[in-house]
Amino acid sequence: MDARSPRGSAVVPGLRHGADHIAPDCAGQNFYAIDRGLRDLLRLYLGPDDFQRLEYHFDRLGALAGGRLDELARIADRHPPVLHPRDRFGRDEDWIDYHAAYREMEQIAFGDFQFHAMSHRAGALGMDRPLPAVAKYTLQYLFVQAEFGLMCPISVTDTSIHLIRKFADAELREYLLPKMLSDDVATMWKGTQFMTERAGGSDVGAIETTARYEAGEWRLTGDKWFCSHADADVALLLARPEGAPAGTSGLALFALPRRLKDGRRNAYRIVRLKDKLGTRSMASGEIVLEGAVAYLVGAADRGLKQMMEQVNLSRLSHGVRAAAMMRRCVNEAMVCARTRSAFGKTILEYPLLRRQLLKIMLPAEQSLSMFLFAADAMDRANAGSSDAESLLRILTPLLKFRACRDNIPVATGAMEIRGGNGYIEEWVQARLVRDAHIGVLWEGTSNINALDIIIRAVGKSRAHKPLQATLEKLLDQATVIPASFRDRLRQTLDRSLQFAERVAADPMEEEHARQAAGGLYHIASAVLMTSEAAQAGADARRALYARLVLEHRLAPRDPLTPHDGAWEQPATEILLSERIASLDEIAGLLQARA
Ligand SMILES: Cc1cc2nc3c(=O)[nH]c(=O)nc-3n(C[C@H](O)[C@H](O)[C@H](O)COP(=O)(O)OP(=O)(O)OC[C@H]3O[C@@H](n4cnc5c(N)ncnc54)[C@H](O)[C@@H]3O)c2cc1C
Repeated sequence: MDARSPRGSAVVPGLRHGADHIAPDCAGQNFYAIDRGLRDLLRLYLGPDDFQRLEYHFDRLGALAGGRLDELARIADRHPPVLHPRDRFGRDEDWIDYHAAYREMEQIAFGDFQFHAMSHRAGALGMDRPLPAVAKYTLQYLFVQAEFGLMCPISVTDTSIHLIRKFADAELREYLLPKMLSDDVATMWKGTQFMTERAGGSDVGAIETTARYEAGEWRLTGDKWFCSHADADVALLLARPEGAPAGTSGLALFALPRRLKDGRRNAYRIVRLKDKLGTRSMASGEIVLEGAVAYLVGAADRGLKQMMEQVNLSRLSHGVRAAAMMRRCVNEAMVCARTRSAFGKTILEYPLLRRQLLKIMLPAEQSLSMFLFAADAMDRANAGSSDAESLLRILTPLLKFRACRDNIPVATGAMEIRGGNGYIEEWVQARLVRDAHIGVLWEGTSNINALDIIIRAVGKSRAHKPLQATLEKLLDQATVIPASFRDRLRQTLDRSLQFAERVAADPMEEEHARQAAGGLYHIASAVLMTSEAAQAGADARRALYARLVLEHRLAPRDPLTPHDGAWEQPATEILLSERIASLDEIAGLLQARA
């Protein structure tokens, strides 16, 4: 345990130097118990049986995230992994040392909760079948409120298992899956994905790693430039078999084991670890493949297509991680705002600070609704719904694109609300600011995700059509919400879809892809929050968030006039209060135009 001063308490007994002026943090809170929005939405998206069986574990993880995991995450961030390239005999037996805090977090994630296996087999958390996606991503959301770095190895092991189950032949499945699905942290095989090379991250077709088939096995030669979870036991990667065409169509998918069947190290080396801005607890490195043995996964000419399944699963998880970090920011910002005094008042009383808080809360709530909606679509797609599959096709990059972008100003805003202490590494805000930025890089930058949404999901797959139908149906069903507000949402939905279609149809409009993608995200989240507010017993305040999205993200406005109507001040009062609201109380605030 870190030998530093006690944390989590504004008043440290025995100190006489003004410690009680410092706002406390969220240490010791249960991040599930304090998340009313999450608890309401889980009742909507999880069947009652699953909710009943799993709530104990949500609560348990919520307590860990505000407690032990949070402590471990802080220590692991301060003690990043260290690469040892050779052993003492000079053999290239590279290995990475992790701090005991990281190892303890692994035990919680892979041993106790079995995040990596919960979608693939029964047995995790006492379930008699794999967990629904809604439950898995909820658990990720709770975990990441404490620890972000380790979620990469957790998630990429989960997604590697998915690819091997779906595309590998029976022999490879039998070889890898029992090891990867194990819950014995000491012996299990964890997965990862190495795609990016110096020649190309976005431009995957530029990959230069080659695969040669000789003496009955594939051998890979090349240089992977960004390899997170660098010492994983099995990596999925793309390489070009000799003689295959240039570009993406010539890429095949391989599984690269760290150790060969006879126990020797495979012929690749981790040559160095990256010195990173964030995700410091987890090791990202560079890897040189020197004729390494690998197993072909699926068809040799479908490598990228297969790999995109992993990319899309990771994108969804990244959206969830951004939602989680934004929630942590909200929790921290609220504690500061309620306890820090300036000029004789708590800072929560100042109008400008209240506005800042709303700017943190709004994107956090949008992403919560969007990730649960996407996870629900995944569950329905897995159950055979082709509409839900199309829905997931567009929701995944939408969530990744917008939530990961929002996470950056939200983290900065939460840091600012803590004042100067927010910049100091012994408070979580500094780490949240550092960690937030990776979300716009890995699994595709913002541009790449926006192009995926507009050119491919809208233009080619027409996935916006089922999105439109689903959102319209939700609006039709939300009859308790004032009709004028639902009409405004409907009209804005139409305009957003028309804009997206126009950009998709005309290559000259490509520069507007991000704007169009943002519009779709915002209107989808506004409709969802309206529909959620309309549920019996739900917190109707979600409809006020929907109106904020409408006015501040989707409506035209003059930068030189105040853009809040008379409705916004009472709405802010209600949103910043610690209670829930009824529809009767807020209905009037949805009616008037700003
Ligand atoms: C810490 C860290 C860990 C990582 N871990 C992994 C890992 O484990 N496995 C892995 O495979 N990769 C990993 N990556 C790599 C990451 O996915 C890439 O860095 C990312 O996809 C961007 O690729 P690039 O760096 O080559 O940038 P580039 O592709 O060169 O992009 C540079 C800029 O050009 C823009 N751009 C490119 N094409 C277009 C276009 N058509 N239209 C408009 N703009 C465009 C991009 O948006 C970006 O702003 C990691 C990266 C980091 C930083």
